Amino acid sequence: MIRLGYSYLSLPEGFYSRNQPEAWSAPSLVELNTPLCRDMNLDPQALTDYFLRPELRAQMPCPFAQAYAGHQFGHFTRLGDGRALVIGEYSTPDGRIVDLQLKGSGRTAYSRGGDGRASLRAMLREYLMSETMHWLGISSSRSLAVVRTGGRIRRERWQDAAVLLRVMNSHIRVGTFEFAANMLTEADLRALVDYSIHRLYPEVAGDEHPVLSFFHRVMQRQVDLLAQWMRVGFIHGVMNTDNTSISGETFDYGPCAFLNAYNPATRYSSIDEHGRYAFGRQPQILHWNLIRWMESLLPLLHPDPKRALLIAQEAVDAYPERWRVAYSDMMAQKIGLPPGNSESEALIGELVRMMEGGGWDYTQTFHALTYGAMADGKVDDPALISPYTNRDPVFVARGSVEYNEKAKNSQVTDGHQLTDGHHLTECHQLTEGPWVNCSAEPYSLSEAHRAFSAWHPRWMAAVDRAPGGRARARLRMLASNPVFIPRNHRVEEALDEAEAGRLDAFHRLLEAVTEPYRYRVEFKDYGAPPSEAFERAYQTFCGT
Ligand code: AMP
Ligand code: MG
Repeated sequence: MIRLGYSYLSLPEGFYSRNQPEAWSAPSLVELNTPLCRDMNLDPQALTDYFLRPELRAQMPCPFAQAYAGHQFGHFTRLGDGRALVIGEYSTPDGRIVDLQLKGSGRTAYSRGGDGRASLRAMLREYLMSETMHWLGISSSRSLAVVRTGGRIRRERWQDAAVLLRVMNSHIRVGTFEFAANMLTEADLRALVDYSIHRLYPEVAGDEHPVLSFFHRVMQRQVDLLAQWMRVGFIHGVMNTDNTSISGETFDYGPCAFLNAYNPATRYSSIDEHGRYAFGRQPQILHWNLIRWMESLLPLLHPDPKRALLIAQEAVDAYPERWRVAYSDMMAQKIGLPPGNSESEALIGELVRMMEGGGWDYTQTFHALTYGAMADGKVDDPALISPYTNRDPVFVARGSVEYNEKAKNSQVTDGHQLTDGHHLTECHQLTEGPWVNCSAEPYSLSEAHRAFSAWHPRWMAAVDRAPGGRARARLRMLASNPVFIPRNHRVEEALDEAEAGRLDAFHRLLEAVTEPYRYRVEFKDYGAPPSEAFERAYQTFCGT
């Protein structure tokens, strides 16, 4: 039996409700992450037994669903784990306490109209995406197992139901604080802050102003996390405040997907009609989410509400500069320059305009720069930018201009007015230009190619001037620029096959992304982006 703890239940009762998972008619193990079991010192057999032997499950302490609220697409809603249960907290060999959480385990007190279930397809998708993020070196929930329950559920069509067992340092999110601030008492809110600090940021407990230090720590973790997302072209797809973790981990992989052709307006989620959560909007949305978080912390900042508001405003106003530094240091490394390099911002700004104007594939562009395929400064032959194939189109998704334009023109306007009239404002640096690096218009297709010839020698000169020169640059680039990301068409192909009971394609894709920075010729086909037609039509779903 797995030994589990329940520290979360020390919080006031409003924060959770106890609930057993529903009975599964014919459970069968689809995927088990044995390397992760090994790392966690978890017995794979004990896990398998947990799923397949209901009598053992019944002997374990009662799992619980967490209560929370959140802003979904800008609107405040009362939420909670409607289809998830924390089965307990597990102590890892490296001394961390992590949540083991079941997703798709049946209805809870917070299910509202939902059935509490999840599809096999959506759970395998989350398994693949979360493991990809981990292997890309990006903080994320991890996936331990996917089990088909034997049931069927209706989503866009009838599908097999499944549960996912995932691991996370904590599922506490911005929405947990919004819930406490709006639905519980100030003492409850204080208890949540104390618990979160104790569990996730114990180093700030002794600070002069622990709540403020806590905010700054989380803000920095989230900023760093987002910079990592942008590094690999990750679009979360549903950055609601209930999906923004306090631990700084990526989680809730519903409609996420990776960018192909560089365009900051790219969004794949079927419900994100206006591009609120588009690739280039993510920095602004994170700021917005952190402001909502800060609003819920206001009563704990200072007994005088006016003073509290001033402290809060100053703290959230630190975001744009922190983001600028994180983003520009991250992008500098993608072109081989050290953090803080004075030339990198201009070089990156230009490169981004070229990528957008030329519709260049984000991953392949940096891969080609890393491996020198662009060394002679020419890109008009797509084969140069695509080290994999001469056949597949590289310049994809140019056709998406229509929705991109719509997305660009939309604004994140739904500011949340606190009931007492206190209201934090966003910093203009972000609201005026919602897109990353959009100070200048993208180049046209022909300009992009010409611009590259001028850019290339400037880039080389900057690399040569930086300490360590080209050799050091190459190392930075190898570590920052993945070769294999889960390309949308590959993900769908793997999931189609898996739904039909064949897991080979899923395993092969998983293997490709398990070493995402190392080019391996046998995975050559996994480097190519989808066709333009595929990209144009591609949509992702929340899986709810
Ligand atoms: P998500 O978009 O996965 O972050 O979910 C948003 C909210 O909807 C969360 O409170 C979920 O627990 C809830 N939810 C999603 N799917 C279901 C479902 N099938 N049954 C009940 N609640 C759900
Ligand atoms: Mg969620």
